[in-house]
Amino acid sequence: QGNCIVIGASHAAAQLAPSLRQEGWEGRIIIIGDEPHAPYHRPPLSKTFLSGEKTLEQLLIRPLAAYDKIDAEFMLGRRVEKIDRAQKTVLLDNGETLDYEKLALCTGSRPRQIPLPGVDLKGVHYLRTVADIEGIRGDLDTSKGPAKVVIIGGGYIGLETAAALNKLGVEVTVLEMMDRILQRVTAPVISEFYHRVHSEAGVNIQTGIGVDAILGENQVHSVQCSNGETLDADVVIIGAGIVPNIELAEAAGLDIDNGIAVNAYAQTSDPDIVAAGDCSSYPHKLIGSRVRLESVPNATEQAKTAAASICGKQLDNHTHPWFWSDQYDIKLQIAGFNMGYDTVLVRGDESSRSFSVWYFKGDQLLAADCINQAKEFMQAKQLLAKGINPSPGHVRDTDFDLKSLLA
Ligand code: FAD
Repeated sequence: QGNCIVIGASHAAAQLAPSLRQEGWEGRIIIIGDEPHAPYHRPPLSKTFLSGEKTLEQLLIRPLAAYDKIDAEFMLGRRVEKIDRAQKTVLLDNGETLDYEKLALCTGSRPRQIPLPGVDLKGVHYLRTVADIEGIRGDLDTSKGPAKVVIIGGGYIGLETAAALNKLGVEVTVLEMMDRILQRVTAPVISEFYHRVHSEAGVNIQTGIGVDAILGENQVHSVQCSNGETLDADVVIIGAGIVPNIELAEAAGLDIDNGIAVNAYAQTSDPDIVAAGDCSSYPHKLIGSRVRLESVPNATEQAKTAAASICGKQLDNHTHPWFWSDQYDIKLQIAGFNMGYDTVLVRGDESSRSFSVWYFKGDQLLAADCINQAKEFMQAKQLLAKGINPSPGHVRDTDFDLKSLLA
């Protein structure tokens, strides 16, 4: 067998390499990543890595020895510039050309850039990589009292960042353009819950407010808001969502559809090229439409499927999506995908720090957001997996054990 080249060295790649060996790939596995690090867990970046509780070594998805053991090779700090499908080669940023028998695109995504005046000032950061966190930490100025940070965007990453910085004693303001934080992804009850939790912790959350400009000389000093107010800031963090890294695939003529378009088996429109993780969109059997999911469990599961396809097997690996977010002492776990919901039911006391929110479309359970409710998260996952739809009465009644529906 020849080379299997993997482009991108993150969650999808870290699963793809061992899965390839398990599925019987005997050729070389070469993982090319433009960051200088072996694959590391990205979720802690806005959580325990930013707060300083975890080191880079503790972030590694697998120890380096695990890749040695399966004979997977890395080329780190290297970018693939071009794919030549006719020659079956990739061109690297140092001019080197490598040939492939099979190619896996694990190029992930990058922060959405917003065209604001002042975004290029020192102290303005996006949040995607270890380098971003190191930059943020380096720019926190504590010489004149607590550092001041303005976060643009009240999504999960912005809010996790706010919680981690709050722990470090930083004065944090979150500016959200929409009427409520987390508007794109949750029901109002969850938005209100997090708004309250952050306000109680001392984070200033302002909704319905955009940003006109980021101000400063070389270094940022303030943010000009759409309501005319100016907020002082040593650091500005922009969390305005992500865009998939599709350009390589697009230039190579592969089909694109809100991401690199793959089928249920992670195969692109070229039979020798697969794609997995944040960069790809695929027809999800359980969701019933084409989706591009932005989560670690998705990258991992899809990488297993992609590895099987490379080895000529079909692995039907579709599970319901799941996700989590850690802020303060609160673990949110999400089972399922709430797109298209028409009914929201609350189980438990929404004014406490432990309850769950259930999303339905008609009678069909779509998803549950579980706040410090690990047991209900597991139950929701199992109900979804078995296609069991609890009645509204059962969901609302905390004395009713949902487990009994699973028997
Ligand atoms: P990525 O992690 O995006 O990695 C792709 C890699 O490929 C990058 O290193 C990129 O630089 C590299 N690359 C791209 N193009 C090239 C090229 N041409 N040549 C070489 N290298 C290239 N998910 C959860 O499930 N739970 C969470 O709590 C959670 N929290 C998160 C918090 C933060 C701060 C962030 C940024 C993400 C979080 N996510 C979370 C999302 C999760 O990290 C992503 O879904 C996951 O990283 C996707 O993995 P991936 O391998 O598809 O791509």
